[in-house]
Amino acid sequence: ARKFFVGGNFKSNGTVASIKSIIEHLNNAKLNPNVEVAIAPPAIYLLLANEITRKDIAIAAQNIFDKGNGAYTGEISAEQLKDAGIHWVLIGHSERRALLGESDKFIASKTKAALAQGLSVILCIGESLEQREAGVTIDVVTSQLAAVAEEVSDWSKIVVAYEPVWAIGTGKVATTAQAQEVHAAIRAWLKENVSEKAAEETRILYGGSVTDKNSKELAQQPDVDGFLVGGASLKPAFVDIINSAA
Ligand code: 13P
Repeated sequence: ARKFFVGGNFKSNGTVASIKSIIEHLNNAKLNPNVEVAIAPPAIYLLLANEITRKDIAIAAQNIFDKGNGAYTGEISAEQLKDAGIHWVLIGHSERRALLGESDKFIASKTKAALAQGLSVILCIGESLEQREAGVTIDVVTSQLAAVAEEVSDWSKIVVAYEPVWAIGTGKVATTAQAQEVHAAIRAWLKENVSEKAAEETRILYGGSVTDKNSKELAQQPDVDGFLVGGASLKPAFVDIINSAA
């Protein structure tokens, strides 16, 4: 069985004080031990978070560069994350794809670089509203996966996060049927293009306007193995989302 996974993507939010208080709340919470939890604060707070967060919650970076250490001003390498004791990284978030122009190829290259250092990756994929309306959702997400599969054959350290762009930060959550349909298609794609094992074992998270109000129903879908939560991960109710595992 796939262990339920809930990630909190803080995005570019928080201060030293607010990050400490979010973490303190999590440290004192009663969390379902059958759920794997990771939080992704902004890079500047990673070391602080790693120091003060309970050890059963992993810390994830929100991005890395695809090169090693060197003359890459402003970037953080996979090697440095590893050195700092950060074992997870989000790659390919739609905000980076859209606002920073990250291509499928670049995202694949970063995924390869992360895995080469032994990091675990939350690989984000998802279609825009325009693409959904044009009926190409499955084509879009599978081609995003295919770009990674060209660089990577071992998917055992990858968690896939399906985040429809139209649902992110909009309050417009995908219906359980919409989420399940795409998750099942992703799993079928993994089976066909990676391996039966990868299809069976890879966690597929849903992200996009997840709250403690809608998480329970989504969690009951057979191919929804967890969540990647943005806005609601900054709030106390993140604990209820973590504990909503079916
Ligand atoms: P929201 O939960 O704020 O919609 O953000 C989702 C997301 O982008 C998580 O990576």
